[in-house]
Amino acid sequence: MPPDERSIIHVDMDAFYASVEQRDRPELRGAAVIVGGLGPRGVVSTCSYEARRFGVRSAMPTVQARRLCPDGIYLWPRMERYAEVSAQVFNAFHEVTPQVEGLSLDEAFLDVSASLRLLGPVEVIGRRIKDSILERTGLVASVGMGPNKLLAKLACELSKPDGFRRITRHNAAGELAPLPVGRLWTVGKVTEQALHRLGIRTIGELAACDTLRLAGALGRQAGAMQALARGEDDRRVESDQVEQSIGAERTFDVDVADLALAQSWLLRHCERIAAQARHRGLSGRTVTVKLREPPFVTHTRQAQLGTPSASVSEIHAVARRLLEFWWQKQGQPRLRLLGVSLSGFAEAPQRDMFGTTPRERVADQVQDRINSRFGSGSLVRAGVLRTRGQD
Ligand SMILES: [Mg+2]
Repeated sequence: MPPDERSIIHVDMDAFYASVEQRDRPELRGAAVIVGGLGPRGVVSTCSYEARRFGVRSAMPTVQARRLCPDGIYLWPRMERYAEVSAQVFNAFHEVTPQVEGLSLDEAFLDVSASLRLLGPVEVIGRRIKDSILERTGLVASVGMGPNKLLAKLACELSKPDGFRRITRHNAAGELAPLPVGRLWTVGKVTEQALHRLGIRTIGELAACDTLRLAGALGRQAGAMQALARGEDDRRVESDQVEQSIGAERTFDVDVADLALAQSWLLRHCERIAAQARHRGLSGRTVTVKLREPPFVTHTRQAQLGTPSASVSEIHAVARRLLEFWWQKQGQPRLRLLGVSLSGFAEAPQRDMFGTTPRERVADQVQDRINSRFGSGSLVRAGVLRTRGQD
């Protein structure tokens, strides 16, 4: 599914730690509750909406909060308790999709694209999550919905507290345009000031600004930032449930005795598993090659990558060394089966939006795009072509 047509939900509990305290201790309800470090250098973790009326905010020094709100109730965090409640909240997420990316104890992205057919439109799913959290925990969650992470999170933020809002591709520009540029994801203080110097104060002005002029001030991040300002964002929801291994193998009708042909199959397998890993947002460290000689003598050879990867060239370089080394040692082997798998997964590192893009990564991305449009195997590396006609 193209990244822009997904249904993403962002859920964030309202004043989570403070709400748990108010729920557990009814005498605190309606009071200004501040949870955080209470020592001289402590900072506020969370405060109730009653405390926010006094100007108290999270990440503020507790000393400053005490000046603003001297009659507030100040509490140390009880992380174990919050973790228990968090588990109940995440159970509610997993009832609608396995595609859950937790951002903290009380915040997550959910990709519900595959759940729509079964559970109904995104608003129905969003409402179900909100109700189910309230029922299980007695706590209020804000829910934002959108075609990508950027817009889902923004919908949540704009409707808090007790939020429930959907931003669609259709109304995205109108919702974004009047907001201050500092609200845009990736725009920090320094960038915000640079934009202000250009006379750009709103996200709408950023989207409309001449790209060359913007690039003069911000360098090559200008284009990516304008895409965000238009509400475009292709980051995937990186599910927390990591798989054991991704593999591809082939049993040959005729045993393969030709190293070049075996290499061709190896590359084809590497393309397939690397694409699957990228699709699921995973990178693996361990490459395993499986080799079976007739009738059923199976060998496996394994090696580690320097860093976890989902790149065809990196996985293939290791797999190829394993195959060639084995081949030489065996003398004149024949292969009944050849397989490659990737395991030892770490979550793919957050994509470096503005970093350089190595040529190989571009090749992988182009291949993914064409194959998702025209069907798996539409675009393959030249080295794979020898395996054609044997399907
Ligand atoms: Mg929260």
